Formats: sequence, C-alpha cells, structure tokens
Amino acid sequence: MPVEATKNQVFLNLKNYFGYDSFRANQQDIVEAVLNKKDCLVIMPTGGGKSICFQLPALSFKGVTIVISPLIALMKDQVDGLNANGIPASFFNSSQSSEEQFAIIEHVIRAEIKLLYVAPESLAALQNILTEKYISCVAIDEAHCISSWGHDFRPSYQQLGFLKTTLPNIPFIALTATADRATREDVVKQLRIEDAQRFMSSFDRENIGLEVRPANNRISQIIKFIKTRPNQSGIIYCLSRKTTEQLAKKLKANSIPAEAYHAGLNFDKRSKVQESFIHDKTQIVCATVAFGMGIDKSNVRWVVHYNMPKNIEGYYQEIGRAGRDGLKSHALLFHSYADVIQLQNFASGASNEAVQIAKLDRMKQFSEATTCRRKILLGYFGELLGGSCGNCDVCKNPPQFFDGTIIAQKILSAIYRLKQKEAMGIIIDVLRGAQNAAILSKGYQEVSTFGIGKDISWKHWQHFVIQLINQGFCEIAFHKNNALQLTAFSSQVLFKEAKVALTKPIAVTEIKPVVKEKRSRLKRTKTTSKAKSANSNLFERLRQLRYKIASEEGIPAYLVFSDATLKKIERERPLSESEFLSISGVGQRKLEVYGDEFMAEIMNFMGSKVKKLKKGDTYTVTYELYKTGLSIEEIAVQRKLNVTTIYSHIAKLYSTGKKINIYDFVTKSDVEAVQKAKKALDSPKALRPYFEYFNETVDYFKIRLALSVIEKD
Ligand code: ADP
Ligand code: ZN
Repeated sequence: MPVEATKNQVFLNLKNYFGYDSFRANQQDIVEAVLNKKDCLVIMPTGGGKSICFQLPALSFKGVTIVISPLIALMKDQVDGLNANGIPASFFNSSQSSEEQFAIIEHVIRAEIKLLYVAPESLAALQNILTEKYISCVAIDEAHCISSWGHDFRPSYQQLGFLKTTLPNIPFIALTATADRATREDVVKQLRIEDAQRFMSSFDRENIGLEVRPANNRISQIIKFIKTRPNQSGIIYCLSRKTTEQLAKKLKANSIPAEAYHAGLNFDKRSKVQESFIHDKTQIVCATVAFGMGIDKSNVRWVVHYNMPKNIEGYYQEIGRAGRDGLKSHALLFHSYADVIQLQNFASGASNEAVQIAKLDRMKQFSEATTCRRKILLGYFGELLGGSCGNCDVCKNPPQFFDGTIIAQKILSAIYRLKQKEAMGIIIDVLRGAQNAAILSKGYQEVSTFGIGKDISWKHWQHFVIQLINQGFCEIAFHKNNALQLTAFSSQVLFKEAKVALTKPIAVTEIKPVVKEKRSRLKRTKTTSKAKSANSNLFERLRQLRYKIASEEGIPAYLVFSDATLKKIERERPLSESEFLSISGVGQRKLEVYGDEFMAEIMNFMGSKVKKLKKGDTYTVTYELYKTGLSIEEIAVQRKLNVTTIYSHIAKLYSTGKKINIYDFVTKSDVEAVQKAKKALDSPKALRPYFEYFNETVDYFKIRLALSVIEKD
C-alpha cells in the first residue's frame, strides 16, 4: 500500500467521518504505524483521544477491526458514536439473541462493518471468524486490565494472550491511560507484543483548572459553585455511600438536580442513574469512585472531590473525566484533615500499609502545595512542566508569606500547655478562649495560653496549624486520638528564636480557568459582554435542539455534537452547507442529517434579532435580490450561499409578510401533503420528522416552504 496515498486518504477520512481538520499529539504517528501493520502500545490520558487511533485506520483496512473493551455500556456508546458519524460498526456480547449474533457474524464475513466491539468473554463465540481472512486489526482498549499489577485487573482479559498467536500478521494496538511503567511492560508481555512501538503522550490536561479549598461549609460552597454553572454536567466524588446519598438529598432540596450512585445500589438503579447522566437528563451525580469507568461523556464540565482521594492516581483519573472535549473545565478538591485521618485509619493494618500511607502523603502534599499544582501532578507522573501553568489556584493567587513566628509560638506553647494530649480543635478553642463544655470540664480556661488568640478567626488558626504540621514543627499522633504533639524542631521556635514563614489565608473566591497567554484576549472581549450574552442565548437554543434530536434518536447528546462543536457553531453561525461542514466536529453524515435543523435554528435566532434590523441583514439582502427578479439559484450564486439557505430565507420572508409568490416554489399539493403530515405527526417543531415521514423523498426546503404557507393561513 503506497503510504503517501494512504496519508491523504487518512486526512480525508478524518474530516469526512469525524469532522476534524487536524490530529492531536501522537495520533497521526500512531495511525500511520497501525496502517503500516506495526503493533503499538498507546499511553494517553483519559480524554486524550485514543479512539481515533484505531477507528481511523479501521476505515482503511479491508477486513474488520476487532475492539476488545471491558464494559458493555462503553461499547454501546462507542458504536452509537461511530454510527452517528456514518461508520458501520457493531458490538457483540452475551446480551444479544443468537439471531442477532448470527447476523453480526454474517456482517463480518461479508466485510459490511468496519469495527466490531467485543468483550473478552465473548471472543470464544467468534472463534470461527477470528482469522486473518476477516480480521485486519485488533485494538485492546483499557489494556491495563490484563495486568494483575494494574489497578483494575480483570481475569477475563487474560485470555487475550492467545490472540496474537491466532492472528500473528495483523497489527495489534493496545491502549490505556495507566502511566505506571511496570504495568505497561506487563501489558505488552501478556499480549505477546513485546516489540510493539510505544507511544507516550503528555499527561497534561491543560483545559482542566485545578483548585483546592479548605473543607469548611462544603455544602454551601458546593451549592454556590453549581449555581454559577447552570446546566453544566458534573460529578461529585465522596468517600462513603452514605455521603453520596445525603449530599444528593441536600442538593435536591436546593432545587439542584442530583442523583446518588454507589456500589450498594442495585444494578437497575445504577444503570438508570448512569444512563440519565450520559443523556444529560441528570445534571449532577454524587458518587463513590465506583462511578466513572467506561463513561465517555465528553461534556462533563466539572468534577468536585467532596472528600480527599486516597492517592494521586485516583484523583487524576477522576478529574480526567471532566473536559474530554477539550473545553475549559474545572476540578475542585476539598481538603480536610478529618479525611486524611480517616484515610490513614483505612490504610492501617492493610498488607501494603506503607505504600498506601506514602501515596496518601503525596496527595496531602498536593493539597497543601504553595507552588503550581499542575507541576506537582505531572511531576508525580514523571513529567516536567517547564514554568507554571497559569490555570491552578496557586498560579492565580500565589500565596503571600509573612513572618508568622509569634503565631507559631502561640500554637506550640498551647500544645505544650495541654500536655500534647489534645487534637487541633481543642488547641484552637483554647487559643480563642472558647467557653464550651469540653474546655470548661477540663479546666482549660486556667491554662496560660487561654484566649491569647481571640483576634484570629477559627478558620485562620486552622490554616496556620496545618502549615506548622506541614513544615514539621508539630505533628498529629494518629494513634493517640489525633493529638497534636511537638517535634524535635518545636524547641527551635519556642526557645531559639527560629523564624517561621506562614502564608496568609486566601479568601475563597472562585478562580476562573483562564490559560495565561489568553488573558489579554479575554480582557478585550469583556467590553462586548452584550454580544456574549446574545451568543450564550444562541448556545442555549442549540443545546436544546441537540437535546431534542438526541432524545429522538435515543443517543447521548454529546454524540450528536460535542460541546466544543456546539460552541463553534454558536461562534461561526454557519448558514450554508459548506460553512457548516467547515466546523470542527462536523463530518459528512452529520452535515446531512443535522445540518438543516441547526442552520434553521441559527436563522430563527438571527431572524428574531433581525426584526429591528437595518440594512444589510441577510434576509433583506435576499429580498432585495428577489425583487429584482433573480431566480433562487442566481441569488444563491450572488450571495455565495447554498440554495437551501436561500429557500429558507424565502420561507422566512414569506411568513413575515413580505410579498413573495410562494407558489412559484411549492405546489398546492405539496402544501396539502405537509399539512397531512403535520396532523399525523402532531405538529413537530423540527423538520426532520417530516423528512422521515416522506421517506426522505421531499426536500427540506420544500417542507419548510409548505410550512410557512400553512402557518400563515
Ligand atoms: P480517550 O479514549 O483517550 O479518553 P476519546 O477518544 O474519547 O478519548 O476522545 C476524547 C474527545 O476528544 C472526544 O470527544 C473526541 O471526539 C475528541 N477528539 C479526539 N481526537 C480529536 C482531534 N484530532 N481533534 C478534535 N477532537 C478530537
Ligand atoms: Zn499552576
């Protein structure tokens, strides 16, 4: 196969089928390697764009590409997504009837589909067609599941080892978001593709803004956070099942649509919550870490950690579920010492206690960082970020240090006076002179440090104590009721005049995820906030239309168009087929199936704005040309617009009372037929149902013209 010719074809396919004009990092090299029949190991973070790496080559192969995937829910979404892009694909699993299975096998034999998704358990049933005559490539998604060293081992994946022996001459591509080197090497060994070419992508997800806040009044902070993000999908991770339920209940009580999800719910309930989240019907899910694997939803806009995660791997995987579409997204973590203590307790006694504690420590360091958080995260995955990210709370609000020696001395002497027996809460109460039962019953009001820190708020004291712990001037004795104790360094502060630098507490204000270099541009656009709100109005209309179409087709909204594509449609306002096709994320099929409705929506939107409009608006221009006696085709040529667009102008002009000889374009019997359809279909808003009613034999523009006649009469 001449590689150059293939290259062009690949770019054409990228645009025609997926609607993208360019590859993301590594994608092109991987696609070429697969096309050159090389085995590949692909390591990319969640949302990095792994699917294209095997879906695109699949289009160029003669036979079928088998995709091994661990979850049935995941397969269905991927197949729906492929079909929405006009790519014939199916899945094969045990939930299907034997007739269905037989039909799929026939499709493979006749090479009528390009991709077949299979769970490892179902491979045996495909034995007869697992030959190089029918199969051109094998992709193993979530490939870390094959390694017992990975965090998600699945015994069924172990049968995959034999596949390479059965299909030695076709390329295998293994894909995973697990960066851990030992697991990686185990994967290629188990799959018997030791010579696979390795592709490691950066783990940076720069569109996700990172933020950590102290866990005071979490619920009200969360409610505020959500209220500033209307209609945005989000996940809130909690440590316990109970918390997920309580939180969902509280959010609902505040008119926020949220559902709980955890492994204790029955299968039906879990599937229902997951489905309804994927389909944009439930805006928010409060979940344990059981939620998320296999959820490809690209428009999750934020992830909140109500509790601290156990380790950075888990945290990164969870926040990675936000912003797969590349649009700006937000990750908010609440940091609480109570959580740290609870996690320490969970770890204690475990067979790998030391490892767990060490991992928790790194998580803690991340939460308490006074330098760029993204740097810390990427450093953890062995990547060096040159410079600071500009998209984390530390970068946006760098901590200000001051001489905190006196504050430190007050804290340490309180610890000393209370005989190193009390936990943080009591120490702070004593400093603030609190007269509560716990203090009075122990007679702590007599201690010399009692009330010496009334001028500082409770929260700020907490902020300072935590810093002293981090700097090693005191520590928590986890096995002694979490009492604060002095360390070898405490005496330097208490008696040897060592200076202690502390950071000022930062008022909790929302950070706005803005990438640094884009700031100046953002400032400039501020002045046009009117235009912006008009636009977001259009976005909302486009979003509603997307939701309506998705519901009709029974697929998730993001499979119709991703948020990123919808934003581009909003910005560019395409009104012709060629303009619509130029939008990233719009391929040939989506243009054909959805183009008209979206363009009609844009036109309606502009039409309603245009009422007050002056010269030069698009309808007026068309009308002026029409009045000169030009034909529709001639107007289209003059205006460099599509004929369909001009027809929709004519319909609009007619319905707003302009003098149009409408029956030049549509016959009375056309109108009658549409009238009949309207009745039968119960007056749908969109044109598509009509189009389908007429078995796709009547053009959209005719339907639209006929409707304008009906509506005017
Ligand atoms: P992963 O499987 O690595 O988590 P996906 O394959 O689901 O990621 O891709 C994540 C998102 O990125 C999807 O919405 C996908 O359509 C989009 N995407 C992938 N490749 C490109 C590209 N070259 N240009 C624009 N968007 C892309
Ligand atoms: Zn940063």
